[in-house]
Amino acid sequence: MVTTHNLGFPRIGANRELKFALERYWKNQSSRDELKKVGAQLRERHWKDQARLDFAPVGDFAFYDQVLDMSFTLGNLPGRVRDFHGDPLDKYFRVARGRSAQDADAHSACCGGVAAGEMTKWFDTNYHYIVPEFDAATHFSLDASRLVEQLAEARALGVEVKPVIIGPVTYLWLGKSKDDSDRLALLPRLLPAYAALLDYFTAQGVEWVQIDEPVLVTELDAAWRDALVTAYDALETRRVKLLLATYFGPLQENLELACSLPVDGLHIDASHARDEVAQVAARLPASSVLSVGVINGRNIWKTDLNAALQWLEPLHRALGDRLWIAPSCSLLHAPVDLDNEQKLDVEIRPWLAFALQKLDELTVLAGALNNGRASVSGALAANAAAIESRRVSPRVHNPSVKAAVASIDAALGMRASAYPQRAEKQAAILKLPAYPTTTIGSFPQTSEIRHARSRFRSGELDQAGYTAAMEREIARAVKEQEALGLDVLVHGEAERNDMVEYFGEQLDGYAFSQSGWVQSYGSRCVKPPILFGDISRPKAMTVEWTSYAQSQTSKPMKGMLTGPVTILNWSFVRDDQPRSVSCHQLALAIREEVLDLEKAGVRVIQIDEAALREGLPLRRSQWSEYLQWAVESFRITANGVRDETQIHTHMCYSEFNDIIASIADMDADVITIETSRSDMELLDAFDDFNYPNQIGPGVYDIHSPNIPAQEHIVNLMKKAAERIPPERLWVNPDCGLKTRAWEEVIPALRNMVAAAHTLRQAH
Ligand code: GLN
Ligand code: ZN
Repeated sequence: MVTTHNLGFPRIGANRELKFALERYWKNQSSRDELKKVGAQLRERHWKDQARLDFAPVGDFAFYDQVLDMSFTLGNLPGRVRDFHGDPLDKYFRVARGRSAQDADAHSACCGGVAAGEMTKWFDTNYHYIVPEFDAATHFSLDASRLVEQLAEARALGVEVKPVIIGPVTYLWLGKSKDDSDRLALLPRLLPAYAALLDYFTAQGVEWVQIDEPVLVTELDAAWRDALVTAYDALETRRVKLLLATYFGPLQENLELACSLPVDGLHIDASHARDEVAQVAARLPASSVLSVGVINGRNIWKTDLNAALQWLEPLHRALGDRLWIAPSCSLLHAPVDLDNEQKLDVEIRPWLAFALQKLDELTVLAGALNNGRASVSGALAANAAAIESRRVSPRVHNPSVKAAVASIDAALGMRASAYPQRAEKQAAILKLPAYPTTTIGSFPQTSEIRHARSRFRSGELDQAGYTAAMEREIARAVKEQEALGLDVLVHGEAERNDMVEYFGEQLDGYAFSQSGWVQSYGSRCVKPPILFGDISRPKAMTVEWTSYAQSQTSKPMKGMLTGPVTILNWSFVRDDQPRSVSCHQLALAIREEVLDLEKAGVRVIQIDEAALREGLPLRRSQWSEYLQWAVESFRITANGVRDETQIHTHMCYSEFNDIIASIADMDADVITIETSRSDMELLDAFDDFNYPNQIGPGVYDIHSPNIPAQEHIVNLMKKAAERIPPERLWVNPDCGLKTRAWEEVIPALRNMVAAAHTLRQAH
């Protein structure tokens, strides 16, 4: 019999229950007990949904982030919260957000509150985790309470479970040393905590523990490889069985290593490494379980079940009970339930599977393997029909788009003049002061905005009423920016629910879900649109809003677009053609929008490539291929404009050191980046690389409600000015402000503008 299991389930809830419960709690609108109750209800529902599997995961639920949970389990808390003696959950939120509950310690805002933990992308996904912090003195002490409690909860429901934890080597790898000490030196101190945790599980009668080491799909140097050997040698004597889980890519040169670690089973991501399955099966010891991630846990497409069975059946014959099947990775990265969708395009819908449907697919596969295909013939036939209807659909294939992509040439991505000539012409028109101030695009999404949008969607508000409501918001944002004295204004993105979905909705080749939410960080979720077919732009998407905003001010108004690479990386994309082809199609469509904005008199156009870096393959050996088509796509989008038009781009969490040459190659006139949470450390890249154009290093962290002090901003900009000539510096927050409230935004920007004035005086 084949064993079915799951590596993790989306915790946010099919209707984002966790998001709303968290936000109510943070606003002091509900009690801690109420929040905990929502958490318990979600866990219960999700375990029941997974009860049909042989093993459901325990420990994948987190109130904010699973890596932060692991830090608490290991007793590794940043020093700045160690003497906080409130409730552990509040302590946890202090690390995550810089404070526990907004109002409860609002007075700490004046003195900066507590710095929030640094966040960074989880491998190549759009999920952000809280980076564990280490220094030479870091010690670990186990607190198994969360896992033990949740194990008991699951068992009380009669569900067969397997605890899920992040493995010791991946845990160290994900973290950051605050004093430059060697993280790996902590391994001997860390392993006893893991050993104790495994013993807890043994004492609870647990049979299997899933221990995640996704570092095995990255390029590891000898020290990290050795650490894996040391760690699993040390844990070998524990009595509980370990399923070592890898995901997000092939093992490649780590394949031998992964197969030789003394564990009881290995999970591999067959959606990325289908051709490694046979090799792994051949190398694993005869006593080991092989778990294959047959269903892609990160996309929304139906799996071709008949094709999967074609290779699973012989594997099952060879391995027998040693074969386990699962989604490729945690379903954290997939929306919860396709059955929740009432409005999804009827032609597209049968092609899709969300988390719960992926578990259905798993059950069908297990049925076919255990009892023969005939036992699930209806399900297999329906699957085959859906796969075929997608393959041949005219909704997917548009010959004129394919022709346009085929005729792309290098000239399409070239500006008329080099940066220095353009900069001069732009300066003459824009007449900006030194250290010009701007924001990244969005202003608070107020309840009025959300209300107007939902009334528009439900038909209560007509188009004219909706336009008027958005124009009121745009006018307000312009007025606030003028009052603050910002130099380059934005319209505030009131009309955009999401920077990618907004464009997806207006492009042909896209479909959207109503509830296809995926967690991005904490309570933040995104609803990636579904890129299913060849892309084209039927009409202008942003020109009217931008023109209206420009009509409200004599200051330059920045047109605001999302770039092709980011649209691609934040969408669920096709699996039937290379990503590069979809990206080129998007580039041609957004280029038309750039040219329309320019025609409408917009002098500054920002093309956000927030997600460019996160599209980097996990292995460096594949970076240059990606960067080549990503940069080319941006250039096609941006560089058709006249010299006088200033192109900005914005990037989130861009550690630049390794890709700075590609960033420079995009040839944007101005780039704004996130640096504040790392104390401008990210600017190290600019020490060795002479970045030729202008740059706005983010001076305050918009993910935290803390108000930045003026001197703090001045100091950060002074650090920046050590690396970049002040003439080429801009002053701006580190990202868009849509998640903040106006009461936070105004004092923060007031301090930022004041800081720019101080800097100008010294200039
Ligand atoms: N222009 C977008 C905004 O301000 C950029 C957001 C982002 O980079 N994630 O909201
Ligand atoms: Zn950003």
